[in-house]
Amino acid sequence: MSNSKPLDAWGRIELRPGDITEFDGDAIVNAANSSLLGGGGVDGAIHRAAGPELLAECRTLGGCPTGQAKITRGYRLRAKFVIHTVGPVYGGGRHGEPELLRSCYECSLRLAVENGVKSIAFPAISCGVYGYPMEEAARIALGTTAEFLTRHGEIERVVFYLFGEQAMSVYSEALSELGGMPGQRA
Ligand code: ADP
Repeated sequence: MSNSKPLDAWGRIELRPGDITEFDGDAIVNAANSSLLGGGGVDGAIHRAAGPELLAECRTLGGCPTGQAKITRGYRLRAKFVIHTVGPVYGGGRHGEPELLRSCYECSLRLAVENGVKSIAFPAISCGVYGYPMEEAARIALGTTAEFLTRHGEIERVVFYLFGEQAMSVYSEALSELGGMPGQRA
């Protein structure tokens, strides 16, 4: 593919309220912890929906460092794959958290391309128990994704699943700040 002209990115990004386990595209991203052996929040919801086979496969992976990603099958989920990434725990923002968070999105998207994924859903990585301020995390999530999409036409759709009204409005604002279209609703 020629890289001479940047591809349209914002038109392939969508904000959607709700539960990421319901995504019916190719892959969902899990905000996991570095053991990959399950946790609370979105991780717990994904493992419950996928069934025990997901944990069994995760046990074979030997964990995952912060900022990186690993892929498994989706088992009972509609999505064919789960991409497990480990976000940084927020400790004030001066311990490499922005770079690590950016790396989560980049590594996940790279793994997606390598596995032929055309549609992928992300939760708000690090914005729960890991305490990342959502305004800043949303700019990183959307900015990194848009930049990646301008270089990769293989991915047709990226959906950000946002849990709760607050998350939806924070992401919508970040999206229009960055120059994207106002958040679409499914
Ligand atoms: P982290 O440990 O990376 O902070 P959490 O799971 O605690 O991960 O939270 C990440 C984000 O996912 C939070 O904004 C939380 O509200 C959201 N979340 C929790 N459950 C779901 C779900 N089923 N679908 C989508 N997002 C979810």
